[in-house]
Amino acid sequence: MIGDMRGNLKRVFLPAVLVAGMTAAGFQIGRAAGKPLFAPAASGLSPDANGAALQAFAAMDPIDTHVHAFQTDPAFTDLMSRLQLHVLDICVADTHGIYSKLATELARAKDFVAASSGHARLCVTFDPFTFQQKEFAQNTVKQLHQQFAEGAVAVKIWKNIGMELKTPDGKYLMPDDPVFEPIYREIAAENRTLVAHVAEPSSCWQPPDPNSPDYDYYKENPEWYMYLHPDHPRKETILAARDHLLAENPQLRVVGAHLGSMETDVDEIAKRFDLYPNFAVDTAARMEYLMLAPREKVRNFLIKYQDRVLYGTDLEFLNGEATPDALKDWQETYARDWKFLATDQKLQLRGREIEGLNLPEPVLRRIFHDNAVRWIPGIAVSPK
Ligand SMILES: [Zn+2]
Repeated sequence: MIGDMRGNLKRVFLPAVLVAGMTAAGFQIGRAAGKPLFAPAASGLSPDANGAALQAFAAMDPIDTHVHAFQTDPAFTDLMSRLQLHVLDICVADTHGIYSKLATELARAKDFVAASSGHARLCVTFDPFTFQQKEFAQNTVKQLHQQFAEGAVAVKIWKNIGMELKTPDGKYLMPDDPVFEPIYREIAAENRTLVAHVAEPSSCWQPPDPNSPDYDYYKENPEWYMYLHPDHPRKETILAARDHLLAENPQLRVVGAHLGSMETDVDEIAKRFDLYPNFAVDTAARMEYLMLAPREKVRNFLIKYQDRVLYGTDLEFLNGEATPDALKDWQETYARDWKFLATDQKLQLRGREIEGLNLPEPVLRRIFHDNAVRWIPGIAVSPK
């Protein structure tokens, strides 16, 4: 979770700007025409302009590899079922904000997964703040072993490693620190996946820019705004440590969350893909960057590396959040992302007109489904 994505979406993606009246023409992908899945009467949410997009999206058996859901509601299970959607529900070890108590958060995520009729799987995490304790790695390995046995398919590390935690000699603890090595070995040995949110968007180190997709997030979370904390590590330093982790652990599958924090230039991502066969990225909360980048460049990148990019959103369903708001947000996001990746429709973003990438169907299948299954085994076991 990073991007106050909901706020951004609401501000820049007013339904009025979405191209109305589009149809699924050109998208005969699997689902036979018939009863519309998202007729207003069926969903109660009148997603008229989005209905066709969501229907085509659903026909992909889509997998969202990056959500944060900590509340249970049958309406959500119903949405996932109608969208034929599988999600990876990701826990985050934070000391402040919405993720304050890891045990509570984990329990809520487990409840969401248990109530999901097989549509959600769990990505656990561990408390890195105890890294100086003698038994840290041993205890964490033991805990992960148990959680894997209970069905967890992935483990998340977060940006506090590299940007917040310090070693006793005053250096920032980096993701390639030897203290984590037994943990990475355990994840690889059990054929699970590491989801690595390492570093932040480049805007985190740059002066405030109201046009940045992350402007609101850093305004609201100044503690994470490294422009205000020049004593903290540079982005390059943190990503170098991440790259070192990839090199040191060739047996470990790593999914770099948020385009691996290389959101401003897909060439940087390509460079890592060429160097590290164990590395993939998710698109969570960074689709806007792909939308704002040169269209042909992004399109060629996604085609060339079609087996390395996993669809993810960073969508939230937080404890106490109103279900209708979340349902609306999830559907709008899925519809927007579908239109951008799968069609040549025009979308409005930050005062610009964006043309959809119109990616070939086999590429869409990999991004929306196949890559998740391959990089995060167990993520989409069919609902019973
Ligand atoms: Zn996230």
